[in-house]
Amino acid sequence: MELKTDGTGLEEALADSENRFRCLVEYASDGYLLYDEDGTVVDVNSSACAAYGYPRGELTGLSLGDLFEPQASVADLTEVDDALCGGAARTVEINARCQDGHTFPAEIRVGVLEGREGRRFMALVRDVSERELSRERIEYLSGHDELTELPNCRLFRTEADAAVERARRAERQVAVLHVDLNRFSLVNQGLGGHGGDELLRQTAGRLREAARPMDVVARYAADEFLILAADLEPESPAARAGPNAGGAAQAHELAAAVHAALERPFDLDGTEVYIDAAVGISLFPLDADSTTVLLRHADQAAAQAKRPGEGPTHQFAEETSDKWGRLWLATRLRKAIEQDELRLHYQPIVSLESLPPGAPARADLAPHVFAYEALVRWQDRDGLVPPAGFISLAEDLGLIDDIGEWVVREGCRQALEWRRAGARVSMSFNLSLRELWQPDIVERIAGEVRGAGLEPSSVIVEITESSAMTDPTRTQRVLYELRRHGFSLAIDDFGAGHSSFSRLAELPCEILKIDRSFVARLPGDASSAAMVTAMLELAERLGMRAIAEGIETPEQLAFLVERGCPLGQGFLFGRPAPASDLVLV
Ligand code: C2E
Ligand code: MG
Ligand code: MG
Repeated sequence: MELKTDGTGLEEALADSENRFRCLVEYASDGYLLYDEDGTVVDVNSSACAAYGYPRGELTGLSLGDLFEPQASVADLTEVDDALCGGAARTVEINARCQDGHTFPAEIRVGVLEGREGRRFMALVRDVSERELSRERIEYLSGHDELTELPNCRLFRTEADAAVERARRAERQVAVLHVDLNRFSLVNQGLGGHGGDELLRQTAGRLREAARPMDVVARYAADEFLILAADLEPESPAARAGPNAGGAAQAHELAAAVHAALERPFDLDGTEVYIDAAVGISLFPLDADSTTVLLRHADQAAAQAKRPGEGPTHQFAEETSDKWGRLWLATRLRKAIEQDELRLHYQPIVSLESLPPGAPARADLAPHVFAYEALVRWQDRDGLVPPAGFISLAEDLGLIDDIGEWVVREGCRQALEWRRAGARVSMSFNLSLRELWQPDIVERIAGEVRGAGLEPSSVIVEITESSAMTDPTRTQRVLYELRRHGFSLAIDDFGAGHSSFSRLAELPCEILKIDRSFVARLPGDASSAAMVTAMLELAERLGMRAIAEGIETPEQLAFLVERGCPLGQGFLFGRPAPASDLVLV
């Protein structure tokens, strides 16, 4: 714009600029407030009037305290710092209060103006209710299933973790019910996806009806649901016979309520549909020691309940005759690990080839020991508990990993001590199926062995034949991994698992331990003698070294030596004993 010498051009220019500013402000969709240092509003736009519900004349003159809450945050709107003075704007999140008293979440951009009237603030007020709503929705959906609006697996897991923690502290019980609908896929196919969705929505409602208000009902997968009943009073020996005794009884009551709730027909667009479910129950601490195991066992119990002739409800450890004893044992076993009550005993594995003829004297055995097998015991206050008394319970409860970790660490420590004392013997460990299937098992063992300064080639890992043949593909992967790290592998209790001999060739193992049950009947029993002979031949043909287990008599030893069995183990050479009792060199 051209300026005239009498100054009228300047006035016009200012008027133009003022007009443009007014238009900008009036057309803005955000509310505009101009207020002075004490917070009194001096100018507004129509969007602000609309948002607050005040006529323009009333909105000007109000103070910030009338327009925003909480009062503590109102001060942010008049606070001045270096950045604001330097021309930057500040964003303040606050609630705006309207003329009729209702509030909305607002995001305010505040800037400062220094002018003829002194310092003033300009604020642009944006209603962010929708954004907040969608944020809340996203948060809700991340913990909920969209179809049924029930909590999802993730949220269930968080709740279950907290419940287990509480139960641990307060000695309470937690039940997880795994509800698996029967024949849902048939209904889904028959009615189409829409009908299936509706059935799941209605099922969710029925399950909520069956559960107590404080129980968490969640959708687990397509047609599977979970119920968490927490803070259950534990069973006491006195209440054991009562109808409402303990968590197990309450969980079964809940399961019965679930079956009853599903009994009524479902109405799907006028079609009557009937559906029932298999319910699996798992209880902390009776059936599991952690949330992961609790969920897994509820799932397994539901699968059991689905089998023909079973169901409709199955509890994971129901088959245990003495539940109270199991609970008591479970509690003590957990403490056993914490309180260092596990012990290792070692049993020699002897090279039969180098033995002088006849039964060896114990004291002369040391040079012929090829390895020691580490066998775990639990030093309970009532005595020494053998592994048969607690390994399978530890597996059920998910405690086996902790036990296995301790065994390997302690065994490695001992092996290193022997090595330093000049004995060159291998150390043999037993791994159960559950341990074998831990995703990080190979790294854990390798780390422990290398960390102790031992060579994996001086460590033997024993896996029973039945473990090795359960899901052989999965097992083989782990065994090959162990081999790759340089460990020696042994198939334990071979012959007891009834797997076919031909499967043996698929496993990367170099040691075959012939089960004690065959050796026990040597040399008199012809079929045992034939079996042992066949196993020794098989081992040789596959390039494996055989260990005969359970040698107790000189006659058994003589038979085995005659058939060329290279290695042996048994009470004849020594029972499992603490390291301090062994003669090593
Ligand atoms: P296994 O690995 O086959 O161990 C041999 C078992 O046979 C030992 O029983 C041993 O005491 C017994 N035994 C050895 N020689 C003779 C004999 O001449 N006559 C008789 N009658 N028995 C003999 P134990 O120590 O009670 O262990 C039983 C099983 O528990 C082991 O069988 C193994 O499968 C398992 N086990 C032991 N320690 C561990 C461990 O640290 N972890 C895992 N997962 N399992 C273990
Ligand atoms: Mg063994
Ligand atoms: Mg064995």
